[in-house]
Amino acid sequence: MDVGILIVGNEILDGVVLDTNSNWLVRRLRALALHIREFITVRDEVPEIAKALRRMVEDGCDLIITTGGLGPTHDDKTLRGVAAAFNLPLELNKEALGIVERQYRTFYERGVIRTSEITEARRKMALLPRGARPLDNRVGSAPGVLLEMSGATIICLPGVPAELKWIFENEVLGILKERVKGLMRERILSLPAGDESTLSPIIDEVMAQVPGVYIKSMVQPYAGKGHIRLWISAYGDTEDEVEGRISRAVEKLMRKLREGTQ
Ligand code: ATP
Repeated sequence: MDVGILIVGNEILDGVVLDTNSNWLVRRLRALALHIREFITVRDEVPEIAKALRRMVEDGCDLIITTGGLGPTHDDKTLRGVAAAFNLPLELNKEALGIVERQYRTFYERGVIRTSEITEARRKMALLPRGARPLDNRVGSAPGVLLEMSGATIICLPGVPAELKWIFENEVLGILKERVKGLMRERILSLPAGDESTLSPIIDEVMAQVPGVYIKSMVQPYAGKGHIRLWISAYGDTEDEVEGRISRAVEKLMRKLREGTQ
């Protein structure tokens, strides 16, 4: 499955907020052996959001996850962007409205807000593109959204990291696990080696000997100290298979490095 991540928010492009959502999502998605094809970051503008979504579909992304722009304010435009991208009307979704009402009731009961009344701004969060369904949000007020469109699954998550994480873990993960086969695990080794170029043939050899393993060297910022980090990742169908591949690769790497220094 190829994944596109669309980050929506002026605050990201203006440098006010550091985008941590995409990195968190990538780590969770890669653990499911999904392939991240692209990230796009856009402003809170309907045409920009729509253009990026269409491009991701055209690029062959099977899963598109958006973050940000689901809230009650005028600059939260992600769902309008989704609707515009696929020529869909926005409609009041009863299930989404139920989530919004429940959340405002809860916040009111906790004394966080002064009224639980569903104002026009709050109702806006229950307007979903036709055919979409809401994903529960028990941390904030805006439901996540899932839409199957043009052969792709589009999942919209709020920008607030705690909300995004809750919806992903409780609503999205189960859906993805049903659809993907296999998993990915990774390990990072720090090796006392000075020169990437001497490691390169060893890495190629180990990758050829252990199928399903990918090894990448990453030079440390303090390269003068003579340490190189090796990032080893493996794909497979079961935990045992994947861990076995990583262990075999590590063992072979260490042996070849020892042989090289003798
Ligand atoms: P809300 O329902 O709270 O309005 P939202 O989906 O509308 O959620 P945004 O208004 O886009 O979210 O962002 C709310 C806040 O979440 C931002 O001010 C910022 O602090 C944080 N945030 C947004 N996007 C990101 C991101 N990509 N990485 C980290 N934090 C983010």
